[in-house]
Amino acid sequence: MKVPLLDLKGQYKAIKEEVLNVTEQIYESQYFILGPHVQALEEQIAKYCQTAHAVGVSSGSDALLLSLMAADIRPGDRVLTTTYTFFATAGCIARLGAIPVFVDIDADTFNIDPGHMAGVIENMTRDERSSVKAVIPVHLYGQCADMEPILEIAAEHDLIVIEDAAQAIGSEYRGKRAGSMGLCGCFSFFPSKNLGAFGDGGIITTDSDEFFEKLKILRGHGSHPKYYHKLVGGNFRLDALQAAIVSIKLKHLDDWTAKRRKNVVLYGSLFTSEGLTDIVKLPLDIQDRHIYNQFVVMLPGQRDALRRFLGEAGIGTEVYYPVPMHLQECFDYLDCKKGGFPVAENAASNSLALPIYPELTDAQLAYVVEKIKAFYDAV
Ligand SMILES: *Cc1c(COP(=O)(O)O)cnc(C)c1O
Repeated sequence: MKVPLLDLKGQYKAIKEEVLNVTEQIYESQYFILGPHVQALEEQIAKYCQTAHAVGVSSGSDALLLSLMAADIRPGDRVLTTTYTFFATAGCIARLGAIPVFVDIDADTFNIDPGHMAGVIENMTRDERSSVKAVIPVHLYGQCADMEPILEIAAEHDLIVIEDAAQAIGSEYRGKRAGSMGLCGCFSFFPSKNLGAFGDGGIITTDSDEFFEKLKILRGHGSHPKYYHKLVGGNFRLDALQAAIVSIKLKHLDDWTAKRRKNVVLYGSLFTSEGLTDIVKLPLDIQDRHIYNQFVVMLPGQRDALRRFLGEAGIGTEVYYPVPMHLQECFDYLDCKKGGFPVAENAASNSLALPIYPELTDAQLAYVVEKIKAFYDAV
């Protein structure tokens, strides 16, 4: 049996006709950049994420970069973020000449640990502390970070909060949607995200009228009015084809999320009935509504051997992420020490993402668990 980590062909089958119709219309119109399809998507996403506004952009990475630019993050400013994330989160800080300040994660959620975050600020010199301008919590794998204490610490130190919600569209924290709690939320339409385009794309949500206007201006090189530039922006535009396709998919998103969550429940009972729950730690849904962009388990060791074994059995898995940000070579200059972020380092060595996409069959899930059992029975 084959169980890929992700297979989008089934999803495409379900929406093919609608997609071909709308893309044909766009080809006929020859109107490709921004325009009515992008605006419609912006309104739909704002509503879905419970915010006043949304701004379609070229990717999730660009959503982060543009948000930091609009928040006026400058060279030498410090920005707090989790060390355990996709590279773009930290990369965007460094691209602006600002200094990423890493924080360890919570062992149960893989998300930034607010207690450690407070400690990191505490241990700074007064000068360092005054240079901290923002924090980027990441809602990793589809579960919101513990936003209440994060927002409290941010308010205390006058920090802007930019949510990296690239993996978390529709995820909730105490009744609030991802992307609605900070100054803004950054989403990605990379194809492997729960709401993926047919290429690159992203969107920023915000409740602030002022920030919304600034994002729109910076998205088009800072031009406002046309050909007059008070600000230096860039080309961060979303195109009509991607927006129209994402709009079609958005109508199915809650259904797909429900199926992911159903798979999680089935995994839970399979791991239990195979007697594996003392060995393999399953992800916990602590913050109300986890949307499971990834289903990441913690293993008692031999992760890479298990991965090879599953691969030979036709089962796709992935390691998100093998190297935390503080140990990336490009951040050597920050002088972070190995062992300095033990929870993240442990996750990097022992976590594994298993297939969770909505179209998986029960038999495929049973096969995955059976093979994991076979591996740990043999070692
Ligand atoms: C995917 C992702 C991004 C970047 O999104 P792109 O659209 O690929 O640029 C940023 N942060 C996180 C946590 C992501 O998972």
